[in-house]
Amino acid sequence: MKLSTTMFIVAAFSSAAAMGPVTGVAVAADSQITILYDAFGKDTAMRRDWGFSALIEVAGKRILFDTGNDRDIFATNVKAKGVDLSNLDFVVLSHRHSDHMAGLSHVLSVNPKVKIYAPREGFGIFGSSLPSSFYRKDESLPPQMRYYDGKPPEVMTFGTAWQGANFEVIEKTTEVAPGITLIALVSDAPGTRELRELSLAVDTPDGVVLLVGCSHPGIEKIVEAAAAINPKIHLIAGGFHLVAAPDDAIANIVATLKDTFRVENVAPGHCTGEPTFAALKRAFGNRYIYAGVGTSLSFGPGAGERRGEGPALEQDEIITYRRFARHEDPFGLLQARSLRSRLSQPQGE
Ligand SMILES: [Zn+2]
Ligand SMILES: [Zn+2]
Repeated sequence: MKLSTTMFIVAAFSSAAAMGPVTGVAVAADSQITILYDAFGKDTAMRRDWGFSALIEVAGKRILFDTGNDRDIFATNVKAKGVDLSNLDFVVLSHRHSDHMAGLSHVLSVNPKVKIYAPREGFGIFGSSLPSSFYRKDESLPPQMRYYDGKPPEVMTFGTAWQGANFEVIEKTTEVAPGITLIALVSDAPGTRELRELSLAVDTPDGVVLLVGCSHPGIEKIVEAAAAINPKIHLIAGGFHLVAAPDDAIANIVATLKDTFRVENVAPGHCTGEPTFAALKRAFGNRYIYAGVGTSLSFGPGAGERRGEGPALEQDEIITYRRFARHEDPFGLLQARSLRSRLSQPQGE
């Protein structure tokens, strides 16, 4: 078995150009996404663990998207792939869950001043600020009973867990570099209500290449936002957040991606879920791109001609996700379980 797998995607540049005007950024032939962190994969030099991180190299930029669940495993995998963290254009932290952030301390040990985009959250872990007018004042109190002796700063800043790091918090969908957009959405799912999440959309001549972390706001909502940039969705990679979803919900979302948004290729990983891997594989066939830890997904001109091996869904290489998330409910697991037990086992599990 090969130690590392390179998958090639995308139709040739000429066929995309023939379909209409080219709107995206210039995509170099060596554009690629490398999966640095996930709980499944074939590369024996990489460690498998729950969480997500990927390096995307596109339009001359090297962008680290999320940093995995464990600093040391992240460092091992970065080293195994020979990724130079001192030479990044920026980092994106998709959301505040630790399975996407824990490797940041390793990134900062190598590159302490790197720009880090993260979602803006009130009093959040990435730092935030508010005008001091937000709190009610009572001028009848003596100064020693008043906040800041009654003279608050105009803007109150709230700290971050990584003091000194170069965070830029993102409030709304923002094009951070030509053709490279951070889509900012908010989850309304029970268990993660009000969680803010960033997804990365690159508008290429072949359509949008969309990298998602955990899709807590809903993969279909993220794709809808990406389609507003360019209705042609070329590839979605990352976590679709269906790890505990029932079959009918999975079927709905797979149909939405395939038939409504006409997504061309999917490279699901992380919290997508095993039954969703299977459903996507059935629906997308050879447009399902296997993307375990260590996989590099090439895209850009000429990549289609070099298309690699078939996206076999190899059961022995996909580890069981169910033992994760037992204690909290970030995946809606408990909710799905209670729904299931109400339907089939009134006495519960
Ligand atoms: Zn999450
Ligand atoms: Zn996650």
